[in-house]
Amino acid sequence: MPSSTVLEIDLDKIKYNTSQVVERCHKNGIEVIGVTKGFSAIPQIVSAMVEGGIDGLADSRIENIIELREKGFTQPITLLRIPRLSNVREVVQYTDTSINSEITVINALAQAAKELKKIHQVILMVDVGDLREGVLQENVLGIAQQITSFKEIKLVGLGTNMGCFGGILPSSLNLGVLVELGSAVEKLLGFKLETISGGGTSTLLLLGNHEVPAGVNQLRIGEGILLGTDTTNYRKIRWLHQDAFLLRAEVIEVKSKPSLPMGTIGRDAFGNIPEFIDIGVRKRCIVAMGKQDVNIEGICPVDKRLTIMGASSDHLIVDIEDSEHEINVGDTIAFSLAYSGLLSVSDSKYVEKLFKGSTWANDQA
Ligand SMILES: *Cc1c(COP(=O)(O)O)cnc(C)c1O
Repeated sequence: MPSSTVLEIDLDKIKYNTSQVVERCHKNGIEVIGVTKGFSAIPQIVSAMVEGGIDGLADSRIENIIELREKGFTQPITLLRIPRLSNVREVVQYTDTSINSEITVINALAQAAKELKKIHQVILMVDVGDLREGVLQENVLGIAQQITSFKEIKLVGLGTNMGCFGGILPSSLNLGVLVELGSAVEKLLGFKLETISGGGTSTLLLLGNHEVPAGVNQLRIGEGILLGTDTTNYRKIRWLHQDAFLLRAEVIEVKSKPSLPMGTIGRDAFGNIPEFIDIGVRKRCIVAMGKQDVNIEGICPVDKRLTIMGASSDHLIVDIEDSEHEINVGDTIAFSLAYSGLLSVSDSKYVEKLFKGSTWANDQA
């Protein structure tokens, strides 16, 4: 049965965005890891990233990584969330590298690697201010030393994450701290680190301004490649496509109604008390898509004259009073997506995925 809600994915635009990011990074001696968690690692999109020249792949969920391996992706893959103690075996089996900050977990990874007769690579995460994962700066040398005691673990580098919890932006200052810590670790351990991983999409702005300190040689990019945006810096990346993804959903009611609900206001379907401003009678429509399909805060009508008024689990109410063309029942309305919108629709079974720009892609879905 066809679904009325469709996520259109332009694989050529994703390939283009990837190649642009890769080109700019390579010019500066930086490798690019393509982050696949924002779209649940849909294989056609991963292939577009690979065709765009990505140096490796990364995801925060081992389930996505296992699927990629089963689909035949042989690229180096990094697990981007600290492994759970309960699944270190899969991590060693299916990934090349994981990011870590807990010696207990690294110890368990080492045991699993021993059993599987493998070497597992570790990037030690350092917290330079955002306060999500990572060891504090003063503990880096001690933990790096401890990691070298595990024969089956190879400490390949240091990394940091930014803009996720504390909203801290990367800067030449905090990335400089990471590079310096890397040098200190090299001095202490007597070998070179392969990787200094300096963040994600938000570091691209620094790169453009030539402010990424020498020594940073890896970025882990998701949002920029997918959406051409950089939410943390609140900007569009002008040299990338912003419309590789488009969400289309069908209109099921069109009516002019007052803007104030009539009767006693209780709670809405999600327990909130809704508030309304009286702007008179407005033409509005209901779209057959709701909070079960998509994070409403993460979508925006492509036609800027339309505004989202609200949503329940299966209905989206859109003000279409100012629309320049007539909207009828059965028409579709197009929405652009932010990262949170993309995240929510990519693994929804109610949203059909339609691939554009590559002939083989749809047969493989
Ligand atoms: C999600 C994630 C990224 C990718 O971030 P973008 O802003 O989408 O480029 C990079 N590193 C880590 C650790 C992540 O969890």
